[in-house]
Amino acid sequence: MEKKVIIIGGGLAGVEAAYQVSKRGIRVDLYEMRPQIMTEAHKTGFLGEMVCSNSLGSFSISSSSGLLKKELEMLDSFFLKVAKRNRVPAGNSFAVDRMKLAEQITYELKSMPNVNLINEEIKKFPKATIPVIIATGPLTSQNFSDNLTKITMRKNLFFYDATSPIINAESIDYNKVFHASRYNKGEADFINIPLNEEQYSNFVNDLINAEKVEIKNCEKNLFFEACLPVEEIAQRGEKSLSFGPMKPIGLIDPKTNKMLYAVVQLRQDDVKKNFYQLIGFQTRLKWGEQKRVLRKLPGLENAIFERYGRMHRNTYINAPLLIDKFYQSKLRKNLFFAGQICGVEGYVESINSGLIAGIFASKKILGKPLYSLPKQTATGALINYISQANWKDFKPTKFTFGLLPDIRVKKANKKIKKELKAKIAIESLDKWIKKANI
Ligand SMILES: Cc1cc2nc3c(=O)[nH]c(=O)nc-3n(C[C@H](O)[C@H](O)[C@H](O)COP(=O)(O)OP(=O)(O)OC[C@H]3O[C@@H](n4cnc5c(N)ncnc54)[C@H](O)[C@@H]3O)c2cc1C
Repeated sequence: MEKKVIIIGGGLAGVEAAYQVSKRGIRVDLYEMRPQIMTEAHKTGFLGEMVCSNSLGSFSISSSSGLLKKELEMLDSFFLKVAKRNRVPAGNSFAVDRMKLAEQITYELKSMPNVNLINEEIKKFPKATIPVIIATGPLTSQNFSDNLTKITMRKNLFFYDATSPIINAESIDYNKVFHASRYNKGEADFINIPLNEEQYSNFVNDLINAEKVEIKNCEKNLFFEACLPVEEIAQRGEKSLSFGPMKPIGLIDPKTNKMLYAVVQLRQDDVKKNFYQLIGFQTRLKWGEQKRVLRKLPGLENAIFERYGRMHRNTYINAPLLIDKFYQSKLRKNLFFAGQICGVEGYVESINSGLIAGIFASKKILGKPLYSLPKQTATGALINYISQANWKDFKPTKFTFGLLPDIRVKKANKKIKKELKAKIAIESLDKWIKKANI
């Protein structure tokens, strides 16, 4: 067998997989259709572009994304290494300059001796005589998804998700907003728009009554519970936003010295602080309506929108039916799936699945045994879940501590339990790394 792996899609998962394969001395043909053919969300031709939020979550190992990142670090994640060099201040969370990061990832990956980047859309499925990793993401091209259904032997499932608007920093009225982090933790990196009860109530009404982009009948009720459009949350009850993305907890208005009734928070989106993103404000309002409604917020009266929130397609396979615990197709053993298309959800999860698919595809080509990941690790729990969940109502999944096996400890609160689970995860992964010779 030729020592080569074909990777389709140079996004978060594809980039990580390419690095893992290449560093094991195996050649990689990495196909990326951009910039010739763009998706609805990507803005550049760079590899590894983060399309929406610039945050990779918390670093604390007792948070889900923190533990997953710790494991990525232990597994020598390329994406994480480059991301760390492109951090921007964001309190306790790990935010990056998305464009600089993507540019560096592209440069560094292209410079690796085994990586051959081919900017071309794959329309038909390649003959899998050598391992192929499909990492075409939630916005897989139409030609390829049509073709993929022949392999998956059932129609792809798909639904819509939503992104948050980005505002030009110079257009914000800083007399009406204030900089602070919740509970004054870390630097005062966030811009906060304080709202009193009346302003909040008017804003909720405006959101509910604004015009939305139509969704086709067959696509209704297909939102992620974890990523609902802001107007959808508003519709669920008068206070639901003030307990959700507009929660005021931990923030004091410097003018009144009182806790806020509600808040809209903005997070820095680039190193130069030119752009700020509304946190948790993914929306399917029509663009004109976004401008009209969001400009009613104090401080945003003259806001210039660098990007509007929008709806997007999300393609993914029915993982429990189609893949095993090595991210390998149950039907064609030389075929691997990675990233959002395989049913994981989120940036860190996509990088993680790309890394593992890259390792397993390499092991396979080198004739080495495949050892499954311990279910006590975040990485193992995620692949265990998506390969074994109920296929009848399978939905893309983020890693949460709930996916890890329960532990019984007397008198332990949730925080202590999480810390213990994290400790076990790290020890288990360490043993696996040694046993599987990673
Ligand atoms: C609009 C949007 C916003 C999101 N926002 C967030 C967020 O804020 N936070 C979060 O954690 N997650 C978010 N996600 C979910 C997910 O984490 C990201 O989509 C992530 O980039 C998925 O990684 P991936 O590698 O699977 O796909 P991608 O990063 O999208 O990479 C897939 C790549 O494949 C290429 N491609 C597609 N078809 C072909 C083809 N036929 N031939 C060659 N190349 C092809 C694409 O151009 C793309 O570069 C969002 C998803 C979308 C769609």
